[in-house]
Amino acid sequence: MPELPEVETIRRALAPRVQGRRLAAVEILDARWSRPLAPDELAGGLEGRRVERLGRRGKYLLWELEDEVTLIQHLRMTGTLLFDPPDEPSHVRVRIALDDGHRLRYTDPRRFGTGELALGRAALEAFLDARLGPEPFDAECTPAGLRRAARGRTAPIKAFLLDQRRIAGVGNIYADEALHRAGIHPLRPAGALRLAQWEALHAGVVAALQAGIDAHGASIDDFRDPDGARGTFQDTFLVHRRAGEPCPACGGPVRKLVAAGRGTYVCERCQPRPRG
Ligand SMILES: [Zn+2]
Repeated sequence: MPELPEVETIRRALAPRVQGRRLAAVEILDARWSRPLAPDELAGGLEGRRVERLGRRGKYLLWELEDEVTLIQHLRMTGTLLFDPPDEPSHVRVRIALDDGHRLRYTDPRRFGTGELALGRAALEAFLDARLGPEPFDAECTPAGLRRAARGRTAPIKAFLLDQRRIAGVGNIYADEALHRAGIHPLRPAGALRLAQWEALHAGVVAALQAGIDAHGASIDDFRDPDGARGTFQDTFLVHRRAGEPCPACGGPVRKLVAAGRGTYVCERCQPRPRG
């Protein structure tokens, strides 16, 4: 599933090609994608409008169009945006023609991806604020702020990291990598972390996400960039999907366990298991 670094990889690749262009034609082939609007209603809100900026918030790709209209796109499990694919790909859900003749294809075999319309800046902010905590790279995302948000919480820290309302953009891969960098066991109760641990975890999240962006994302499943290329972050995972291999920090075994209902990878020498 695309997480922050994968969506940012798409944004960086597409922004220079779509900013300043008009969405000449938008064809929505799957009514599930545009819900609650009908495909024609959503397409009608987009067609003819110029793309002022391609932005991102958490795992959302934000097509900021003129007249303060924004297409809020989420790729969910298997969404991919392809720019000028040589052949028509399978599982196409949306076709976009730009006014300079270039083509975009949104493909999504599992069909969980969504496209929603926000009219006006306030509607966009209300949509995002209701769903997302602070952006990890922003100054407002601080160790002290995260600690406050976790106060009294007995759920595992991994669940806290996966909750988009606590911190935006982190999913299963980057949560595992961040917790290993911070030396924190994923099952440790979020509310029990000391400030020094939050500082290490905040730094671990930022470092893991940045490493993912630098590697153009991780392609363990379907992720491809708009040119169809795979990311390479999976080649440098510290613990994620490395069960049985030696921990790169201490040489101890990487183990797989379940935390927050997800397959989770940990080195229990570097990340001591909580007592009890
Ligand atoms: Zn280790």
